[in-house]
Amino acid sequence: MKLREIYNNNISKKISFEVFPPKEAVNYRKLISELEKIKKLNPAFISLTCGAGGNSGSSTVELARVIKENGFNIMPHFTCVCNSSNFVFKHIKDLEELGIENILALRGDIPIDPTLCCKDFKYANELVEFIKENSSLSVGVAGYPEGHIEAENLQEDIRNLKKKIDCGAEAIFTQLFFDNNKFYSYIDAVRKYGINVPIIAGIMPILNKQQIYKMTALAKITVPQIILEKLETYQPEELQNFGIEYAIRQCEELISENVDGLHFFTLNKMESSIAILKNIL
Ligand code: FAD
Repeated sequence: MKLREIYNNNISKKISFEVFPPKEAVNYRKLISELEKIKKLNPAFISLTCGAGGNSGSSTVELARVIKENGFNIMPHFTCVCNSSNFVFKHIKDLEELGIENILALRGDIPIDPTLCCKDFKYANELVEFIKENSSLSVGVAGYPEGHIEAENLQEDIRNLKKKIDCGAEAIFTQLFFDNNKFYSYIDAVRKYGINVPIIAGIMPILNKQQIYKMTALAKITVPQIILEKLETYQPEELQNFGIEYAIRQCEELISENVDGLHFFTLNKMESSIAILKNIL
C-alpha cells in the first residue's frame, strides 16, 4: 500500500515503527524476533534507516527483503549524501523488484570529511526528483518542527521542504519532539506555505538518559523541564516508565487533534512502543 493510501485510512492503520539495521547480518534474526512482538498491533509499515551507524544502502535493501519476507510492509530509507546516481538507480530498481512501494528519501548527515560526499545529489529534493523520474515508488521526506540544524530559521527550512514536495514527495515524517505545541505551530506554518501532504508525528519513547541527551543535543530539540527533572532524579526503570506515560499523553493529545499518523523511533527496542500503543489504540 502506497503512502497516500495509508494516510487516507483510520488512525489504527497509521502507526509505523522505525528500526535500524544491526551492524552484523547474523543479528537480523534477532531484529525479526523483536518485530514479531509488534505484529499483532498491525503497523502500517516498518521503516528502516540507512547510512546511520555505518550501514550502506546495500545492507538496507538486503534487510528490507528479509523484513518483507517475514510478512511486514517496509519503507526503507535512502540517503544521497555519499551515494552516486548509479548506486541509487540500482537500489530503487531492487526495491521495486521486491515489491516494495514506499521509500523515505533523505540527504543524510554530511560526513566529518566532506570530500567523501558524492557530487550527484546535494539536497534531498534532488533525490526525490530522481526517484520519481526513475521509479513508481511513493516517496516520504523528513521535516523538522524546530527547524533543521543547518537552516537559518524555520521559514527557510519550510521553503526547502516545499522543494521536496514539489518534486513529488507524498508525506512528511517529522523529527522527534516532546512538546506538542512545537508540532502544532509547525503544521500551521507548513500548511500556510501551501504544503498539503500528510505530516506524520515522530515519537521517541524515553529509553535512557544518555539517549535523550545525545539525540536532543545533536538535533537541537527542546526538552521540557519536567523531562529534564526526571532524567536527573529517576532510576533507569522509573525513567523508562515515566517515558511511556509521557508518550501516551503526547500521543493521546495528538490523536485528539487529528494527527495524520504516528511514527515511533524504536531504536530496535519494542517494549516501550508496544506499551504506549496498547494504551492509545
Ligand atoms: P534536506 O531536506 O536536503 O535538508 C538539509 C538542509 O539543507 C536543511 O537545513 C534544509 O533547510 C537545507 N536545504 C534543503 N534543500 C535545499 C536546497 N534545495 N537549497 C538550499 N538548502 C536546502 N539520516 C540518515 O543518515 N539515515 C536515516 O535513515 C535517517 N532517517 C531519518 C528519518 C527521519 C524521520 C528524520 C527526521 C531524519 C532522518 N535522518 C536520517 C537524518 C537526516 O538525514 C538529517 O537530518 C540530515 O541532516 C538532513 O536530511 P534531509 O533529508 O532532511 O535533508
